[in-house]
Amino acid sequence: MTNNGHTHNTHSADFNRKNAKKGEQIAIELAPHKHEDSIADGSDLDPTITEIAPGVLEIDTKLGGWEHVTAGYLLTGERPFLVETGSRSSMPTLKKAFTKLSLSPNDLYGVAVTHIHLDHAGGVGDVSELFPKATVYVHPLGAKHLVDPTRLIDSASRVYGPLLDSLYGRLLPTEKDRIKVLEDSEIIDLKTRTLKTVDSPGHAKHHLALLDSSSEILFAGDAVGVRLPDIGILRPSSPPSDFDLIKAVNSLNKFKENNPYKIALAHYGLVAIDPQELLDEAIEIVTKWAEVAERAFLNQSDITDALTTAFGGSFDNVDPKHKARMETLSGIHSNASGLKRWLEVKYANTNSTENKNTAGGKNN
Ligand SMILES: [Zn+2]
Repeated sequence: MTNNGHTHNTHSADFNRKNAKKGEQIAIELAPHKHEDSIADGSDLDPTITEIAPGVLEIDTKLGGWEHVTAGYLLTGERPFLVETGSRSSMPTLKKAFTKLSLSPNDLYGVAVTHIHLDHAGGVGDVSELFPKATVYVHPLGAKHLVDPTRLIDSASRVYGPLLDSLYGRLLPTEKDRIKVLEDSEIIDLKTRTLKTVDSPGHAKHHLALLDSSSEILFAGDAVGVRLPDIGILRPSSPPSDFDLIKAVNSLNKFKENNPYKIALAHYGLVAIDPQELLDEAIEIVTKWAEVAERAFLNQSDITDALTTAFGGSFDNVDPKHKARMETLSGIHSNASGLKRWLEVKYANTNSTENKNTAGGKNN
């Protein structure tokens, strides 16, 4: 496909504006947007790159051709570093961003994924091929799945169904010696800044967030939830098969202790709300969803129905187009099945350790 005659602005902005106030939002539209809703594979979309803090670029990776749904973050400076690739279907858009930012094959120092779900890590194999010197950083529990994605793709196909190929795309393997695993509180030295890891299970057991020393932005992946700017409502993300409420809340409290200046979500963008407030809201919301699910589970009623009754109404006034995107990223059905699985494990453990029947039977 051709690019419909868009002018491609050469990238000339100075991304190390020392005079810019910390966290100040500086919008740099590098290219005009393309059409909104017609493209499923994102293959012909110009990236939108926004400097959200000095040396921190938000790249709209445009899953499904949608704006403000999936973000990657590029930290510029002596050792350019990418946080999240987005799905493999976003690679053409991401490649255009690299070109606009004049990143040559030897330039990228590293790429980290907050976790290995395909909307975050699907492009990792491609990025490691494009940048042969870049190290790929991942949680210890995610590493082997980047080397051999077979099981990851199998489980993604169960969760995503036909959307695996029509929307997300799969994942190329990454060579083992290109990968470095990151434990909790590890430091990635990018010379002009460091990134500190925050092991943050809950959404997934292989989830870690990254705190930038320079902007003090926390790249929180999906651990806080999904909050699309076009909707402005935070929704927890509790997909199968790892979701665990206690771990999720512990991770959110850990984020609070790290006291970030701002939080950047993968879905989507830098959140204007004060992080302590946002994190309190995230704790409250995920707890409420889990309570509603647990009540339904114990009553042997349908968890999806219970969640829809309790929370579906908050989206009544939302544009159906945006609502559909939210359902794709963190749909009630997916959250219900993650919560159900968590409850099954929780009550199986309760029954076996306490030898009493508190579960009230299986919800199946
Ligand atoms: Zn995600």
